[in-house]
Amino acid sequence: MSNIQTLLSAFDAIAKNPKKQLDDYISQGKKAIGCFPYYVPEELVYASGMVPFGVWGKTGGKINLAKEYFAAFYCTIAQLNLEMGLDGTLDGLSGVIAPSICDTLRPFTQNFRVACPDIPFMFLAHPQNRKKEYGVKFTEQQYNKIKIKLEEISGIKITNDNLNEAIKIYNENRKARRRFIELAGQYPHIITATSRSVVLKSAFFMLKDEHTKMLNELNGLIEASPIEPWKGKKVVTSGIVLDSPSLLKIFDDNQLAIVADDMAHESRAIRVDVQENTNHPMQALAEQFGNQDYDTLLYDPELNKRPGYLVEKVKKSQADGVVIMIMQFCDPEEIEFPSLKKGLEEAGIPYIKIGMDQQMTNFGQAQTSLQAFADVLSTL
Ligand code: SF4
Repeated sequence: MSNIQTLLSAFDAIAKNPKKQLDDYISQGKKAIGCFPYYVPEELVYASGMVPFGVWGKTGGKINLAKEYFAAFYCTIAQLNLEMGLDGTLDGLSGVIAPSICDTLRPFTQNFRVACPDIPFMFLAHPQNRKKEYGVKFTEQQYNKIKIKLEEISGIKITNDNLNEAIKIYNENRKARRRFIELAGQYPHIITATSRSVVLKSAFFMLKDEHTKMLNELNGLIEASPIEPWKGKKVVTSGIVLDSPSLLKIFDDNQLAIVADDMAHESRAIRVDVQENTNHPMQALAEQFGNQDYDTLLYDPELNKRPGYLVEKVKKSQADGVVIMIMQFCDPEEIEFPSLKKGLEEAGIPYIKIGMDQQMTNFGQAQTSLQAFADVLSTL
């Protein structure tokens, strides 16, 4: 148990202080590239010998300087990413990759480019039709543009060999994270909602081979532990980001174990692997994006498949209910909420909707709601 706690403390320290992690990499002579949400092909950055560094807003952050560029009704992830560019937090980065996959990120990319001219900027457009051959080709072209800029910044050529190696390392990390998520669901008495979050969050700030090594060790230790009956209730979370320690403590205080998730920052980011050892690794990366599904940010020609996916996740993980985290001013998630609600109600699955933003530090209302939800679940 003490080894598990030692590893969890190490993940916690990294998740809580990404700036220190960035500074450590830079002091080792490495260059780092900021990867904004969503679906950045980090493998390209890794293959160029640089550190892909996740930038997903800042939990508990304050928006001051970014107010000059955004109206108040933009989500806090975008505003805080710009704030960190303006206040110098991102100064150590040798560049950023900025996707434009939602209506907030599109203006964000242009605001960032203008407001932070000293940080080399790589714009990434994903196609709406990602699965068809022409969509895969478009993605591949976009990735090739990023590749050229990364090579300029790093001075290292991205070859098929080093890209295939990066893909292998990323697949291994995705596998380890998926296994950890399963284990967290089976061992909630060991992996709390809070510790589950720091393990998954720290991956965005670490070289993936380093993260995999630590995580495989942790997974092995958890697997070797006895399973104990869980006295609380089990939930699936859905939304964009859930990494606030104060909010996660409410889950833990009310014995709500997170046994699976549909969070953009967690499972959605690691669902799909990339084909390994091909002669066309760039195409394989583009196909991986084409194979992504069940995400409100991605066009779904077969009508909305996400409610059914979420219901299946609840059944498979034997969860008692769903906690839907809605990021304030996130239009895609708000728009999709009614269909999620309908799907869950038809399947008879209890759910609760919690509104949040990244500036929040006081979660009194969420505490009352989650406490009531835990009470309701225990009466069923
Ligand atoms: S939280 Fe919603 S609105 Fe904001 S960047 Fe993500 S998807 Fe776009």
